[in-house]
Amino acid sequence: MSKVAHYLQEHLSGRVTAAQPIRKYFSTDGGVFEVTPSLVIYPKNESDVRKTARFTWQLAERGRVIPITSRGMGTDQAGAAVGSGIMMVFPAHMNRILEFDGGSGKVTVEPGLLYGKLQQTLHTHGKFLPPYPSSMEFSSIGGAIANNAAGEKTLKYGCTRDFVKSLRVVLANGEVIETRRLSKRELNKKMGLTSFEGEIYRTVDAIIEDNKKVIEDSKLSVSKNSAGYDIADVKHKNGSFDLTPLIVGSQGTLGIVTEAEIQSVPHNPKTSLIAAFFDDLAVAEEAIAKIRDLSSIPSAMEMVDDSLLNFLDKHNPNELKGLVEKPFSKLIVLIEFDDANSRVQKRMTKKAIKILSKMDVKYQLETEEAEKEKLWSIRHSAAAVISHSEGNTKALPIVEDGIVPEDKFHQYIVGVNKMFEKHGLDVAFWGHAGNANIHMQPFLDLSQVGDRQKAFKIIDEYYNLVISLGGSTSGEHSDGRLRAPYLKKLYGEPLYTVFQKVKQAFDPYDLLNPGVKMDVSIDDIKPLLRHEYSMDHLGHHLPRS
Ligand SMILES: Cc1cc2nc3c(=O)[nH]c(=O)nc-3n(C[C@H](O)[C@H](O)[C@H](O)COP(=O)(O)OP(=O)(O)OC[C@H]3O[C@@H](n4cnc5c(N)ncnc54)[C@H](O)[C@@H]3O)c2cc1C
Repeated sequence: MSKVAHYLQEHLSGRVTAAQPIRKYFSTDGGVFEVTPSLVIYPKNESDVRKTARFTWQLAERGRVIPITSRGMGTDQAGAAVGSGIMMVFPAHMNRILEFDGGSGKVTVEPGLLYGKLQQTLHTHGKFLPPYPSSMEFSSIGGAIANNAAGEKTLKYGCTRDFVKSLRVVLANGEVIETRRLSKRELNKKMGLTSFEGEIYRTVDAIIEDNKKVIEDSKLSVSKNSAGYDIADVKHKNGSFDLTPLIVGSQGTLGIVTEAEIQSVPHNPKTSLIAAFFDDLAVAEEAIAKIRDLSSIPSAMEMVDDSLLNFLDKHNPNELKGLVEKPFSKLIVLIEFDDANSRVQKRMTKKAIKILSKMDVKYQLETEEAEKEKLWSIRHSAAAVISHSEGNTKALPIVEDGIVPEDKFHQYIVGVNKMFEKHGLDVAFWGHAGNANIHMQPFLDLSQVGDRQKAFKIIDEYYNLVISLGGSTSGEHSDGRLRAPYLKKLYGEPLYTVFQKVKQAFDPYDLLNPGVKMDVSIDDIKPLLRHEYSMDHLGHHLPRS
């Protein structure tokens, strides 16, 4: 063990290890990059996190930089959960629900808590957390907060940022802050502090005041966005101020989350589900827009395309048995209404059906649990693409999360199809039709030089396409290492400079997850590309308490 590891082990109550197999295990996440940490810590409590941060800060003051990467379950698809220094792994011990108030729905949690476990608990109280990612059964709440995760219910309810009320955050120097919305008076008090916290409040406030127009003009015309830092939601017109939206989605690059207070909402499992079968993408775009504009928005509008169904038909034909008829429609969109008022729900369902009928679109309506489950399984069958492999050829998450303005949905799909055709690759789509946020993963073999080069060509063409359509490079999974090189192009130099100033204010020694989100070029990430891809680690278990 190194001197650093020895020192930390003596001072922390959680385990510190530099064992090679463990470092190897944490050298990959759900993305395509590989970076081996020098040591791994399983913090037992916030004090362990503080002590580690204070120690690395003191070393940095003397010129030695050992970065810290926070990690949940490591399902990140863009290489944000790997790093070269200390890997701080939360699910091992800091995984509890600390408090739940059934009346208000507020729940306080530790970051390593499995999202699915939290959701299960909330369900038993008639509540839920709507922006759950499809990976919730094997990912943590801390990872969802750090990525500003979103999912099928985001269309109606919003993304993770909309539900996080307050956070406890360990800063780069080991100080702990509690973020929540502050009044103008409370902000002034914070700005008067002589601590690092005070310095951060003063600097961030000055950055916002000096760049009001740049920040105001920065909002992209998309319905959800996890790219960059959310500086626009920190200061409101009435002078109130909250660092919470900035920390949410910051991917462990501004601070380390040790506790979160989250708002859950009532859950209504009695939904109406329509499957709409489209043969024309332009018609689909128009119908989706009309249904989205109903006075009560659907709780989900999810889709799969015919390439996905053809893929399943070829490789897992049993999955589609009794669910969809051949030949497959170009696009199947599942439209769900979950209004608690059953009269409203029925009325919205009727209106949606009327829109579809008028446009000559075939549909199927289900309200019985078992039948709805069957329809949902069409959408969830996308998992078969992700886990499919032929030798070393795997579905790679390299262009899996772009989102465009809703009126560019058709153009987006046509553009992506053309791009893949040019590269001689088949592509299947699935995702969030209501948000124009689609997921796709091309099949490539990372052991082959040709495919490695192709991967970077596809990455470049795809993100340029999304940006040219006025979209965002990430609707829900965030920038990580993969999309970081496109952040300046996405937002433009002035806002990118604002992001750099924010990062500098929180992390002057670049200790927190460096190489993620900020100041990353394509040349930085090329050498990190793995030579084989798998998500085997998702099935592994961590030490737990
Ligand atoms: C099959 C599959 C499906 C997916 N579907 C979705 C989806 O529908 N929607 C979606 O948004 N994402 C999705 N993802 C991506 C990912 O699973 C989610 O974003 C998830 O919330 C990440 O959680 P995690 O515990 O795995 O985080 P990790 O991968 O461990 O980490 C993610 C980021 O969070 C940071 N982090 C973790 N803990 C902390 C902490 N305590 N403090 C500060 N930073 C921290 C890490 O440094 C990293 O930057 C999917 C991934 C896979 C593999």
